[in-house]
Amino acid sequence: MWNYSNAPRCTVCAHRAIITKQQAQTLVNSSEGRLVAYQCPIELSSWHVWAPEFERADQGGSE
Ligand SMILES: [Zn+2]
Repeated sequence: MWNYSNAPRCTVCAHRAIITKQQAQTLVNSSEGRLVAYQCPIELSSWHVWAPEFERADQGGSE
């Protein structure tokens, strides 16, 4: 069974998990809007998900 925690990591995207578009969409659908999916700019067959609400706080609001 696929597990997000065991997914390989993308070294160019802050070590986000590398998942398929379908897996990303499944996570987004089950997150009630908290997760956002995006396509890896380097590996176009790879997708990542992230949570803007939580990760924005981690970055201290610097833009
Ligand atoms: Zn990536």
